[in-house]
Amino acid sequence: MNASSPGGGNAARRAQYLAALGIDLWRPRGRAAAAAACAPPDAWQALRTEVSGCRQCGLCDSRTQTVFGVGNTAAEVLVVGEAPGAEEDRQGEPFVGRAGQLLNSMLRAMGQPRESVYIANILKCRPPGNRDPSAAEVASCLPYLHRQIELLSPRLILVVGRIAAQSLLATDTSIGRLRGHLHRYGAAGTALVVTYHPAYLLRSPGEKRRAWADLKAARAELARAVPAA
Ligand code: URA
Repeated sequence: MNASSPGGGNAARRAQYLAALGIDLWRPRGRAAAAAACAPPDAWQALRTEVSGCRQCGLCDSRTQTVFGVGNTAAEVLVVGEAPGAEEDRQGEPFVGRAGQLLNSMLRAMGQPRESVYIANILKCRPPGNRDPSAAEVASCLPYLHRQIELLSPRLILVVGRIAAQSLLATDTSIGRLRGHLHRYGAAGTALVVTYHPAYLLRSPGEKRRAWADLKAARAELARAVPAA
C-alpha cells in the first residue's frame, strides 16, 4: 500500500502524529521483517561445520555424530533442550524420541508447530548413559548455542528443563522458581520462558497443567506486538 492510497495516507499521518507526540508505533513482526532479520545460510553452514568437527570435550569420543539443531532459521521461537539422547545421537536431530513427540504436541498447543520453530540443545553431543552434562561440558559447548541465538535472533526462547534453564540463565535457582516468570536473555533482552522438560512430563503427567500455563505465557508474549523499526 503506498502513501497516496487512502489507508496508506491515514496510516502515514497517524504515524507522524504519534511520532510527534513521542509515542512508539507498535506492530507485529511480519514475515518480511523476519526474513530481512535472517542470517545468511552460509553463516549457519559455517557454524554447523565447526560444531561437527568439535573436539573440545571428551564427548567427541563417544558420539555417533554431533546434533547441531533443526528447524526454521527464520523462526520467531527457539526451543532449547539439554542434550541429545540415544535416538538423537543416532539420527542427528534433537528431540526425535518419545520426549520429542510430547514436545511436538506442546508446540502445536502453543500455536507454534515444530516446523515453524528452531530447536537446539545446550550440548551438541550425547553424554553417555544419558547422564547429566558436566559443568565443563556445558562451558565448552554453550558458546555454540549463544552463536545460534545470535544468528536466529528469535523473539522468544522456550527453555525446557532444569539443566537447560540453569545453563542458559547462568544460575543454580531451581526450575520450580525459574518457571512462572518472564526472563530476558542477552543484550537484546529476548523474552525467555522456562518450562518442564517433556521427558519429566512423561514421568510426572500431573505437572502438565503447570507446563500448559508456561506455554500460554509464551504464547501471550508472542502475541504482544513489537515496536516498529
Ligand atoms: N532431550 C533433550 O533435552 N534434547 C534432545 O534433543 C532430546 C531429549
